[in-house]
Amino acid sequence: MFNLSLLKPLPEYLVQRYYGWKATTFANNKSWYHKLAEDGQHPRAMIISCCDSRVHVTSIFGSDAGEFFIHRNIANLVPPFKEDQDYHGTSAAIEYAVKTLKIPHIIVLGHSTCGGVHSSFEYFSGNNPNLYKDSNFVASWLEILRPSFEKIPSNLSKNEKLKSLEKKYSSSGFNLYRINKVSMFRLADANLVSGYIKGVNGYGKLKVIMENDLENTYGIKEISLVN
Ligand SMILES: [Zn+2]
Repeated sequence: MFNLSLLKPLPEYLVQRYYGWKATTFANNKSWYHKLAEDGQHPRAMIISCCDSRVHVTSIFGSDAGEFFIHRNIANLVPPFKEDQDYHGTSAAIEYAVKTLKIPHIIVLGHSTCGGVHSSFEYFSGNNPNLYKDSNFVASWLEILRPSFEKIPSNLSKNEKLKSLEKKYSSSGFNLYRINKVSMFRLADANLVSGYIKGVNGYGKLKVIMENDLENTYGIKEISLVN
């Protein structure tokens, strides 16, 4: 039986922050929170972002509660479509977003200096074959990135290759495309956009990447740069 005495109380700094939120943000927007509770959620976009604490999704886009349906995982990846009895958290979130909530936009939000991307690069390159020897889940999760890694042109410098892998969300885009093609739910009514936050600790730039050729796992076109 689980020993409840092992549970620890919520850290005091979080308790104090909650009281602060209740007295300010909540108190000033009570009617909005009540409306969300009564009418349900109608998010304007789904965002798939990295777990990295520096990628502050709601802050970057200045969003209120109820605006974004957010799914976070290591390196903001969309896994390949698989119909089995395994636990597919990311696929479940996408299915719910599209089928039930009918969200019109899906945004894959990457970021620079991504630990998941960088470590998988070292691993795939053979530079650190023991990197994941103690991992039960991270190594197999990051295999999603391998098709992108294998498409990186060999004539680039290491830094260029890393940057390239960081920005290439073709694995995720291709897998979203596959979901659209083979699954019972369709993404056709949702617009797929890949965003890329450059310099989370530095310049705060947002580069928008459209994946216009999802049959080609490296078919990515950067169409705009927002400074
Ligand atoms: Zn990351």
